[in-house]
Amino acid sequence: MFTWRERLEPTGDRYGVEWAVTDRHGGSSLAPFASFNLGAHVGDLEEAVSTNRHRLAHELGLRVADLRLMDQQHGSAVALTPATSGAGEEGVPAADALVTGSTDEALVVLVADCVPLLLVDRTEGLAAAVHAGRPGLVAGVVPAAVQALRDLGATQLEAVVGPSVCPRCYEVPAALRDQAAAVVASAVSVSRSGTPAVDVAAGVVQQLADSDLDVSVRWLPGCTREREDLYSYRRDGRTGRFAGVVRLLPPERVA
Ligand SMILES: [Zn+2]
Repeated sequence: MFTWRERLEPTGDRYGVEWAVTDRHGGSSLAPFASFNLGAHVGDLEEAVSTNRHRLAHELGLRVADLRLMDQQHGSAVALTPATSGAGEEGVPAADALVTGSTDEALVVLVADCVPLLLVDRTEGLAAAVHAGRPGLVAGVVPAAVQALRDLGATQLEAVVGPSVCPRCYEVPAALRDQAAAVVASAVSVSRSGTPAVDVAAGVVQQLADSDLDVSVRWLPGCTREREDLYSYRRDGRTGRFAGVVRLLPPERVA
């Protein structure tokens, strides 16, 4: 169910965090989505996706209604969750970054080659889940998410960059590589066959390093296209989505 999972307990005034990256195992979906597909718009059976999402929520000690997902656009829009924005109406926002200050919900970013980025400020009690593919990198979703957190008071971020397609496996037309390079130089790369490629994760890491905030980055290893335990759109086309998930845990202090 998880290829990576970590729980950092709250200490004193400091929030804890539970964050994870799911894999293909332990779910109810059948081929070609087998088995822990969390994406509802890929052609999988609704019941299977629902069962898988319930399992994910249960693992995190939450209800499925406490999972916050996005209608991902490959853009740079940032949405605050209902609990954080004060909006009464729940919905799935059209956005590529979700931000919360609530400890009662988990943010979920769905991917199958794009970069799942998770961010927390454990002093201020803020978290974000960001969907950064090549278009999102170029559109600036990472700086937009960091700015949104900063606007809410964040000063010091911890970041986890999840597995994504590696540049050896991500050949693109030269024009697209050049477009990415114009935004963030570290995204320039070369494919396994020597053709132009984009290193989206390197670009994300560079954008975090370039931000005005103090960001400590952990970059998880693994290429989605090369790892059978993760979904890869480039490898399989019709396939499922795995997830980056982040949930804040309340500090020990009594409010
Ligand atoms: Zn690769």
